[in-house]
Amino acid sequence: MAPGVFVATAEKYTTTTTIVTGADGGCLLIDPAVSVADLVALARWLRARGLHPVAGWSTHPHWDHVLWSPELGDATRYATPRAVAVTERELPGLIEGVQASSPGHDLTVFAQLEPLAGTEIEWRGPRAVSYAHDAHAPGHGAIFLPDSGVLIAGDMCSDIEIPLPDLDATDPLGDYRTGLDLLARVPGITVVVPGHGHVGDRDEFRSRVAADFGYLEAVEAGTDVVDPRLTVDWLRAEHVRLSSLLTERGEG
Ligand SMILES: [Zn+2]
Repeated sequence: MAPGVFVATAEKYTTTTTIVTGADGGCLLIDPAVSVADLVALARWLRARGLHPVAGWSTHPHWDHVLWSPELGDATRYATPRAVAVTERELPGLIEGVQASSPGHDLTVFAQLEPLAGTEIEWRGPRAVSYAHDAHAPGHGAIFLPDSGVLIAGDMCSDIEIPLPDLDATDPLGDYRTGLDLLARVPGITVVVPGHGHVGDRDEFRSRVAADFGYLEAVEAGTDVVDPRLTVDWLRAEHVRLSSLLTERGEG
């Protein structure tokens, strides 16, 4: 992806895992996912290259982003304080999610997160800065690597998913716009890694941001949404949920 930055993509949901290499074979592992076999393969890939996780990061409190395997060792895994609080509060639901969709994970290491103090992960490697917002989930934290210009966006800025606002929020669209705007203003992005989908360059990042703002505007206006990403059933269902929620509230 960039010098010292690797992305693995799982078959399930086109989920990405990002590996950032640091000093002495240490690496920062972001959103390792998704099946038990994927994590075992990831651990094997790291070992074969003399790498070992020294820190972890979960971008947001959804089950497919708080996974881990004993094979990956016992590095401290961080998330934003808000994401950690939500993870603790909603642990039963997260466990239900992982068991229904990707069974077999060791639950003793599932969702074991520490709140990050400040906005940078302290580790011996490239600077990793957290950008926290509540767009797709409460306490969603993208990670930006200023040295290489890589933005690990979590479940935002995807080429295969429409924006998926947090429907439990009081103002899902407002929160989403605020989060997207925050990411759009990060200076120096040259590569974007979405939580699900494909890596994009600077121009691709800009066009995804524009497409996402366009989608939000159309949904809010209640007009027909023409978005090439609205091709699969579950995304159409999410789109209908958001539209009806806004209509109910008299906003759509
Ligand atoms: Zn998510």
